[in-house]
Amino acid sequence: MFDFRSDTVTQPTEAMRRAMAQAEVGDDVYGDDPTVNALEEQAAEMAGFEAALFTASGTQANLLALMAHCERGDEYLCGQQAHNYKFEGGGAAVLGSIQPQPLDNEADGSLCLKRVEAAIKPDDIHFARTRLLSLENTIGGKVLPMSYLADAQAFAFEKGLKLHLDGARVFNAAVAEGVSLSAIAQHFDSLTICLSKGLAAPVGSLLVGDEALIKKARRWRKVLGGGMRQAGILAAAGQLALTEQVERLAQDHDNARYLAEQLAALKQVEVNQCATNMVFASFAHANLPALQAQLLADGCKVSVGAKTRLVLHKDLDRGAVDALVASLHRFEQENG
Ligand SMILES: *Cc1c(COP(=O)(O)O)cnc(C)c1O
Repeated sequence: MFDFRSDTVTQPTEAMRRAMAQAEVGDDVYGDDPTVNALEEQAAEMAGFEAALFTASGTQANLLALMAHCERGDEYLCGQQAHNYKFEGGGAAVLGSIQPQPLDNEADGSLCLKRVEAAIKPDDIHFARTRLLSLENTIGGKVLPMSYLADAQAFAFEKGLKLHLDGARVFNAAVAEGVSLSAIAQHFDSLTICLSKGLAAPVGSLLVGDEALIKKARRWRKVLGGGMRQAGILAAAGQLALTEQVERLAQDHDNARYLAEQLAALKQVEVNQCATNMVFASFAHANLPALQAQLLADGCKVSVGAKTRLVLHKDLDRGAVDALVASLHRFEQENG
């Protein structure tokens, strides 16, 4: 089976499975798990930050960032398309008593800083206290321009806001730009990183920040039930995600470009966007459920919709792309 639905489907490598089996572990709630501690140190160092926290998921890491930056009655500014607004169950409001103030994303995924400025609430008892600006990189596969990151940082500093990055796929951005993680991270007060997407670890994310922020987040992680015990079993795979999987992301980007090129030859398919490891396409076929069923019968899992997202990752090589494209060609021939 070739699974194009997401890079979350990646299987851990053999090296990860071996490292997990052999990991030295302890009770991480006591701070005693050497493998978790090593992963957190490794991530902090790569990002150029003081500290990091291993979390169960990216959703948890983002929520902890919001809860560590903001108090009850504060608000964060973010995009309408932001994962930590739209796709995380309203956790900041539900569990953190933090109000989101979403703004339309620009076509490139950024937030217009003029509009952000207009959304900052005055210091007045009528309003929530605007505390934080949250960006996402990559967003829908797109890389935020490096110059924009610097502008956003200067803006946040001038306005007295903290700046968070949802960097679930920040390594895709770094690899696409040919820069280190720290070159991106230096513009932010905190960032989250998913280990379990293109980096192929089975479980886990990281929140990176300064000592004080991570100390607060560590407390909230325990409150939220996210204090894990011998979590080094998972962190061992996370270490290899950071050391062995980052550069490989360039292949996913190449394969995404290759897929977009191949799709361009199909009459009923329009490629709307290709960036980093994602291709978005629309299918003009009358019967989309039949298309999805045909692709599945040919071994390709695709969430076919009005706008279909195809995600490249470690477990999809050029052969997988060829199989998908061949199946689409057959469907076009048989269904006009
Ligand atoms: C996947 C994702 C998350 C959340 O990660 P989970 O581990 O699925 O909870 C957060 N932000 C972005 C941009 C993501 O793509």
